Amino acid sequence: MQHVYFDHNATTPVAPAVLRDLTAALVEVNGNASSIHHFGQVAKLRLEKARREVAARIGCDPKEVVFTSGGTESDNLAIFGVAKRAKSAARHIVTTTIEHPAVLNACAQLEREGAIVTYLPVDREGLVDLDDVKRAIRPGTGLVTIMHANNETGTVQPLREIATLAQRAGAIFHSDGVQVGGRVPVNVRDLGVDLYSLSGHKFGAPKGVGALYVRKGITLEAMFFGGHHERDRRAGTENVPGAAAIGTATQLDFDWNSLAPLRDRLEQGIMARVPGTCVNGSLIHRLPNTTNIQFAGIEGEAIVIALDLRGFAVSSGSACSSGAVEPSHVLLAMGLTPEEARSSVRFSLGPGNTLTEVDSLIDAVEATVTHLRRISPQVVNV
Ligand SMILES: *Cc1c(COP(=O)(O)O)cnc(C)c1O
Repeated sequence: MQHVYFDHNATTPVAPAVLRDLTAALVEVNGNASSIHHFGQVAKLRLEKARREVAARIGCDPKEVVFTSGGTESDNLAIFGVAKRAKSAARHIVTTTIEHPAVLNACAQLEREGAIVTYLPVDREGLVDLDDVKRAIRPGTGLVTIMHANNETGTVQPLREIATLAQRAGAIFHSDGVQVGGRVPVNVRDLGVDLYSLSGHKFGAPKGVGALYVRKGITLEAMFFGGHHERDRRAGTENVPGAAAIGTATQLDFDWNSLAPLRDRLEQGIMARVPGTCVNGSLIHRLPNTTNIQFAGIEGEAIVIALDLRGFAVSSGSACSSGAVEPSHVLLAMGLTPEEARSSVRFSLGPGNTLTEVDSLIDAVEATVTHLRRISPQVVNV
């Protein structure tokens, strides 16, 4: 059986050009980038080339790029780095209810350490209200952390406007850009962010390497205690092959915006052929590769399992904790009932997906849902 991948928001396969440069760095670059001899110089040069590539992709200076172990570390470094730098400066943090756990749980930890965190709601489309942001920011707000695009729905927040509000109030603005940066053009200066998180494995690099944009002038308290790597912002011998990989991944010429027609075809095909469906999240402000669809009366997880048996990888966005299917916190925050949230499925496209794959996925979804509804003990009128 052929397995087709429609779960690129979870992770992406390593791109061939990335594999080539990753392998070359592993084989040819043996030194420690901190060593002064030839081997160290080679490693340092390779590392700085990668840093320039990442910087060029997001429109910043290479000095403003810190390599990390991934999106989770970038988020943690940004949030704790600001909060711990001046204890009083970040006693109040503004975030949203739909953030990735890497942000939500970092904020929860700071609450346990005495910080006050405001969790902004979102509307039915998954968007924050700028008036809410404005009202929430107050003197003493040290940090605003609001994601660029949501991983479950693809909804894109108005970052520029939020940045202006944060800046006016003198608060530092971090955004989790993991679903955006490296995929579609992003310019951190235009966005007005102070800190911006990237993760390599969401756009063709391997898992375990990421980057944090740290605007010049922003000083972070380091999270790791060790050597003076990454300009004292992230201790630990540099992962040069990982950096090379994320650098190359930022230079791939695949345009994720070209996935929008395929995504639209998938979405429209499912909506037209399967009754009782609707799309979760904004249809306008969203990533080009993502759609999150509700299937009335059926468990999303049952669809995910059934589609997997037919060779299609999708996601129900619901985390399995203690055996119980938890409805997505993102969909609940958008006002869906727990039943509606549990009946939702995320389809996220990526570089390999073809029109043929999309059309067979539509067929598979129709067959799966028809079957599940027939055997379902619930009688659903749709
Ligand atoms: C995947 C993801 C992360 C975590 O990145 P890792 O590199 O897997 O640690 C953080 N935020 C968002 C929005 C993500 O999609």
